Amino acid sequence: MHNFSTLKEFLEEPRKVVIIPHTKPDADAIGSALGLSWYLRKDEHITTVLSPNAYPSFLHWMPGHEEVVVYDKEKPEISETIIDEADLIVCVDFSSLNRIEELGPMVRNYISKKTIVMIDHHRGKEEFADYELWDIDAAAATQLIYEFIDLDEGTQKIDQRIAACLYAGLITDTGSFKFPSVSSRTLRIAASLKDTGLDTARIYNLIYDNNTETRLRFLGYALGENLTFWPELNTGFFTVSQDDRERFNLQSGDTEGLVNYALSVNGIKIAALFKEKDERDGIKVSFRSIGDFSVADLSAEHFNGGGHKNAAGGRIDGITIDEAVAKFKKVLQEKLK
Ligand code: 5GP
Ligand code: MN
Repeated sequence: MHNFSTLKEFLEEPRKVVIIPHTKPDADAIGSALGLSWYLRKDEHITTVLSPNAYPSFLHWMPGHEEVVVYDKEKPEISETIIDEADLIVCVDFSSLNRIEELGPMVRNYISKKTIVMIDHHRGKEEFADYELWDIDAAAATQLIYEFIDLDEGTQKIDQRIAACLYAGLITDTGSFKFPSVSSRTLRIAASLKDTGLDTARIYNLIYDNNTETRLRFLGYALGENLTFWPELNTGFFTVSQDDRERFNLQSGDTEGLVNYALSVNGIKIAALFKEKDERDGIKVSFRSIGDFSVADLSAEHFNGGGHKNAAGGRIDGITIDEAVAKFKKVLQEKLK
């Protein structure tokens, strides 16, 4: 592992940089990528944000969205060329190459051939980068992008455009500054982003006040029909079937935040959301917890996933949603014994 000062030297001349967020990027992943991209452009670097796939429309306001190259919307050769021509590959908001789908093997080809930087806050780190800014206690990856800029002595270069991208990651990954991951540093960074003149209320509105009527109706339906509690396991969970998806014409991002409603119930410490055929076959699961129970461990051990102690996800193929729920119950009964 190299010291960041050599990276600073490497960046003293203009470089071609490709910045990659994790699959199905959320506000933190895409905000990290775009925020860093705008920052690097200030020093004449040529940057491309390359996303494994698309992200929800409520993130399309982000400055630089139009320029993002989406791997699975283009011919694979386009992404191959972008990576091949880059001097520097920066991986943001993930620390294991299996989190970027088919881009994983492409990046893997360049290990120790090109300079690779990884900036992340998830557990389950893989060794693939020459430079790591990895801190599982950081509230958001955009917090670490700010730390990267700070290490580069560049915080005075942060303008409203960069601030908007970084702030979006901060509010979404912290549940609007309510999760225990929020440190005084997180709040100080938020304050310094605000000091650029950023309209923080506007960013909040763009992300959260963007429901369609159908999406709000779906929420009502899901709270009524799709939410089950196992009080003896302090657990609540949602299921979303293929039928629900069709009935409410659910789009990518429409179930974002749903899982948290289960946690809002008194006494509930573990929550899950099981989705049938989300993007592809198999069951996609999201987990949340309050307190010490690590859903990252649960997800890594039993659902081919990972994440953070209190927010994780995974996927299982070749099983029905009911079987996935049954497996979840069995695992919880064992873990909570
Ligand atoms: P969400 O439930 O919002 O999709 O994801 C919650 C957290 O778990 C995020 O930090 C996300 O990066 C992580 N996560 C979600 N799905 C997966 C997965 O399939 N594998 C791994 N390793 N992490 C995941
Ligand atoms: Mn994140």
